[in-house]
Amino acid sequence: MPQPKEGDSVKIVTDEEELEGILMPRPGILEQGFTVLKLKNGYNIGIDEKKIKKIELSQPYKPKKQEKRKLTAKKGLPTVAIISTGGTISSRIDYRTGGVYADYTAEDFVAMCPELADVANLKAKKLMNVMSEDLMPEDWQKMAREISAELKDVDGIVITQGTDTLHFTAAALSFFLRLDKPVVITAAQRSIDRGSSDAFMNLICSVTAAARFDGAGVYSCMHGTSSDDYCLLIRGTKVRKMHTSRRDAFRPINELPIAKVFPDGRIDVLNKRYDKRGQVEPKSDESFEEKTALIQTYPGMDPKVVDFYLKEGYKGLVIAATALGHVPTNCNKEIVTNLKKAIDKGVAVVIATQTLYGRVHPLVYTNLRKLSVELGCIFAEDMTPETAYAKLGWVLGHTTKHDEVKKMMLQNISGEINPRINADSFLY
Ligand code: GLU
Repeated sequence: MPQPKEGDSVKIVTDEEELEGILMPRPGILEQGFTVLKLKNGYNIGIDEKKIKKIELSQPYKPKKQEKRKLTAKKGLPTVAIISTGGTISSRIDYRTGGVYADYTAEDFVAMCPELADVANLKAKKLMNVMSEDLMPEDWQKMAREISAELKDVDGIVITQGTDTLHFTAAALSFFLRLDKPVVITAAQRSIDRGSSDAFMNLICSVTAAARFDGAGVYSCMHGTSSDDYCLLIRGTKVRKMHTSRRDAFRPINELPIAKVFPDGRIDVLNKRYDKRGQVEPKSDESFEEKTALIQTYPGMDPKVVDFYLKEGYKGLVIAATALGHVPTNCNKEIVTNLKKAIDKGVAVVIATQTLYGRVHPLVYTNLRKLSVELGCIFAEDMTPETAYAKLGWVLGHTTKHDEVKKMMLQNISGEINPRINADSFLY
């Protein structure tokens, strides 16, 4: 008799009773020693394994076979490759067990959203299947290599991933790739098998932008409002997730969105600061120094945090400091002493701001001058801490010489530094 597995219908006999239901995956946070059963009334109960006399298999779980549809080409349409990497947009709920699985691939997106086939001829590839909090710099490198390989044969690329770290991926790819076509990253806050999912409009608008937007480079494309009005195309180095769950969580920081993309195919440009298609020779350069960290200062911070990174051999540290770029300097002098020690040993220290909006300033206060002039911290202009982190990792992949690191960090490479912040961009 085979051992019952998760999803199987079973009968559990305990010292006190007999229970019928579906064997559930045990949530990791639950104490060990309990078996979870979904009863016929829908409730899940935990049964103390010490009390279980036997578990009998009544019916094994047979997952439904998913039909894979072939993608067929229509004459005259642009071609877009959709590369899926995981996240909610690729997840489905297993209604039997209530678990969420990252499972859908690009072919499934087309099957579920047939309008996509009227926007572009689609190629689909599942590159990986991970939740975005688990993405590593090496995954960004893998995505960059895949994009370079695919982009020659298509008009644009859509990457699907989890929302949580989409802005890290967007920034990293913006530094790794010089592009002559658009690469559009999209995601969903609600899984695609729910009626309220934002996935469909995000996919339609992203494929539209990848197929027909006249700009090149890396962008995000997600809901612009909480209704299904339009999506915002936002520069990869200027986008940030600003809400845990709203459909319009992705906002531009320190510049206007590049364009509104409507589900009917219209693209309204709002910000002309972008490179046009075909202007640069495409190139991939995905060197990244993994010993790069991002930390945040706060009142009461332990100065040993800085020491830790020095001892662990880190080459670069981005500090999300307060407002104009302050770190505690007077109440706890050891933070500055430790930063100096790190910089003297060759660690690049970059200052960005926790406020996200606005620009850090190396000179306006005495303690800022101490960090910039005396110590040699690099003030990251109006970059978000996440963009500064992706950029510093990439810069350190090329050089660790302080003057060169500083020069590259302060040189605008992929739209990450906006010399004039438009007042209307605040809380856009
Ligand atoms: N935390 C997961 C991720 O970022 C799921 C959330 C999502 O996709 O929006 O991949």
